[in-house]
Amino acid sequence: MEFSILTLCYLVGSVTFIIGLKMLSDPANARKGNLIAAAGMTIAIAGTIFLYESDGEKLHNYGWIFGGLIIGGIIGTLAAKKVQMTAMPEMVSLFNGMGGACAALISIIEFDHIANNPVVVNPGHVLIIFAGLVIGSVSFAGSIVAWGKLNGKFGDFAFSGQHIVNIIILLVVVASSAYVVYNSDVELNESFLYGILALSLLYGVFFVLPIGGADMPVVISLLNSFTGVAAACGGFLYENKVMLTGGILVGAAGTLLTILMCRAMNRSLKNVLIGSFGASGSSKGAAGGKDQGQYKEVSLSDAAVVMSYASKVMIVPGYGLAVAQAQHVCHELEKMLAEKGVDVKYAIHPVAGRMPGHMNVLLAEADVSYDKLLEMEQANDEFPSTDVVLVLGANDVVNPAAKTDTSSPIYGMPILDVELAKMVIVNKRSMKPGYAGIENELFFRPKTSMLFGDAKKVLQDLVAEIKNL
Ligand code: NDP
Repeated sequence: MEFSILTLCYLVGSVTFIIGLKMLSDPANARKGNLIAAAGMTIAIAGTIFLYESDGEKLHNYGWIFGGLIIGGIIGTLAAKKVQMTAMPEMVSLFNGMGGACAALISIIEFDHIANNPVVVNPGHVLIIFAGLVIGSVSFAGSIVAWGKLNGKFGDFAFSGQHIVNIIILLVVVASSAYVVYNSDVELNESFLYGILALSLLYGVFFVLPIGGADMPVVISLLNSFTGVAAACGGFLYENKVMLTGGILVGAAGTLLTILMCRAMNRSLKNVLIGSFGASGSSKGAAGGKDQGQYKEVSLSDAAVVMSYASKVMIVPGYGLAVAQAQHVCHELEKMLAEKGVDVKYAIHPVAGRMPGHMNVLLAEADVSYDKLLEMEQANDEFPSTDVVLVLGANDVVNPAAKTDTSSPIYGMPILDVELAKMVIVNKRSMKPGYAGIENELFFRPKTSMLFGDAKKVLQDLVAEIKNL
């Protein structure tokens, strides 16, 4: 491509994606990073619409282009504004599925294009078309199933021998695609294309249906990387460097995130894909269901007193804090304790909540200062010097069974060692288990006291109590 303003637009787009992605790794800059990458994307799209030329002709179908942009823009904006923080993984999944569908549609259109212009056919081109078609449609079908499972529209579904059936479908897809690519000078038959499309969609559905609920964010991240690779195929087809860069970045980032999430849960990807942790019905009692004895409770006023007179308090936020939307009042409590001279910090477990970075996003929403957030390793170093740990709607991420009970489904997952502190106060509504469906021994340990109630209400009452001290 010779140098032109369009090339410059693509260069600016590619550079902003990389800068934006880098900034997303730090909560303080994440919002700005997102805006920078979005600005780069706008420049790249506007450049393509107004400056792209093929055989000396510019794009002309502006009605379709702007119609799509306006309708998609309105739907996307409304969905993003309306979505509850706890429903974010669902929305990410749905939007990711649309990306996969777009990549598959590009392949269908390009196939039609070369089938009608056999002179331009070359096997490399056909290979990329089929790669985009297969990966994009697996991502589309898988993401829609993941979306349906997360919002309760679909349940878990598995039949015996499903993994074998999946492998056979995949082999048929790969072999038929290879056949068409190898014989592309004679075999550009549409029935092959639609047959492979149908099997890829079926594979996407069968691939995600049996995976358990707690593993869904890992699968969504994996499907996200598929969409990135499928989009990169589109970049190859159109020799569009910004699409290629964007696709590769999404593919690489999705793969890394998948690996990091598996590591944080101490699971292998294979185990996530064919295991059933988090599947409904996987509820297992921790510690083999042994009698845990009695738990003790602490009153609101006692909790308020011990925290006010502590020198260091560590707050452990979990999924329940997000459900209760208690982040703002939590910040209020933190500020109030700080005014009394208490050193207050937050211990953030990498898989607390229901999506990567869930707690960081939640607390950022309430303007909690980033330097107050400790990662798991730092927090574990600081627990021995902590007077009170306040666990707010967290359960699995503080469950000692992960360290001690080899039969526990979360065995091996690194946890926050809250018991190293002098006292642990756990707020939740009942003794019900968390997402992994297992009991938590921590609640019965001598240092632990339960403070029952909805996180928002309990925090509001605590703030009121502390005000009166
Ligand atoms: P958990 O799901 O283990 O526990 C949340 C607890 O919050 C529940 O026990 C519930 O108890 C309590 N709760 C619910 N609503 C409220 C409320 N309104 N007020 C107070 N408490 C409430 O959450 P964790 O954050 O500890 O653990 C996350 C789990 O999700 C882990 O198993 C992790 O592996 C999994 N996961 C997370 C991913 C991520 O990316 N973050 C990805 C994949 C899996 P009660 O009903 O008694 O109130």
